Amino acid sequence: MTLEIDVLTLFPEVISGPLAASIPGRIQERGIAVVRTHDLRQWGIGRHRSVDDAPYGGGAGMVMRPEPIAAGIDAVRRDDSLVVLLDPGGEVFDQGRAHDLAGRSHLVLVCARYEGVDDRVRSLVDLELSIGDYVLTGGELPALVVIDAVIRLLPGAIDEASTVEESFASGMLEYPQYTRPPAFRGMDVPAILTSGDHGAVARWREEQARARTRARRPDLLGEREERPRRPGSAPESPG
Ligand code: SAM
Repeated sequence: MTLEIDVLTLFPEVISGPLAASIPGRIQERGIAVVRTHDLRQWGIGRHRSVDDAPYGGGAGMVMRPEPIAAGIDAVRRDDSLVVLLDPGGEVFDQGRAHDLAGRSHLVLVCARYEGVDDRVRSLVDLELSIGDYVLTGGELPALVVIDAVIRLLPGAIDEASTVEESFASGMLEYPQYTRPPAFRGMDVPAILTSGDHGAVARWREEQARARTRARRPDLLGEREERPRRPGSAPESPG
C-alpha cells in the first residue's frame, strides 16, 4: 500500500528538494510513498493572498491566520487522513511515532512560519508534533524529518534488517559498527567481529548495545541518567 503525504506550506520547494535525492527519491519513484506539496498562499486572503496578521494583544512578529490553513486542510483531508501540525509545543517525535505514522494511509503535514499559528488551528488537526526542544524558522525542516523517518520504515523501502537492528528499534541504541581497515590510527576492530562465530558476534552486539544505551541513554532502559553522555567515545565495556 502506498503512503500518501500532503504537505501544506508557504515554501513547497523546501520540501521537494531534499526528498528528490537518494533513498527518499527512490522510495517515491517506486511508488511506496507519494509526497505532494501545496502552497498555502493559494488559500491566502485578498488581492495579496495574505496568510498572516499582527497578534491580537500586541507583541512581536506575525501570526498565521486560520482561514488559509483551514481551507488547505479541507482541500486535502479524507476519511483516512491524519492531520499533523508541526509545532514546538507538540508531542516530541520519536521512532515509536514514526512506526505509527508508517502504518497510516494518508498524512497531512501542516508547516507554519512566523510566530506560528492562530491557536484555533489546533482544533483542526489530529496531532501536533515537535522534533525537539528548539525553535526553527518554519515547519518545513520538521516535516522533512518526519517524512524521512516514516517513509524509510515502509515495507520494501529499505532492507528490513536495517530497521530491525538500528537504534530505538528494540528500545536501545545500536551496537558499534566497524568496516575496513582492520587497524586505524592505533585502533583495532574488536577481534570477535572477525572470528566467524556468528553466535558470539550476536551476543557481543547485544551486550555492547545495552552497555552503550546504559552509558548514554539510560532513560531508554527505564534507568535514571547518572553519567554525562559522551557521544563519539569508544565502545562501552558491558556491565
Ligand atoms: N512562536 C512559536 C513558539 O514559541 O512556539 C515558534 C514559531 S516558529 C518560529 C515557526 C514554526 O516553525 C512553528 O509554528 C512550527 O510550525 C515550526 N517549528 C519550529 N520549531 C519547531 C520544532 N522544534 N518542531 C516542530 N515544528 C517547529
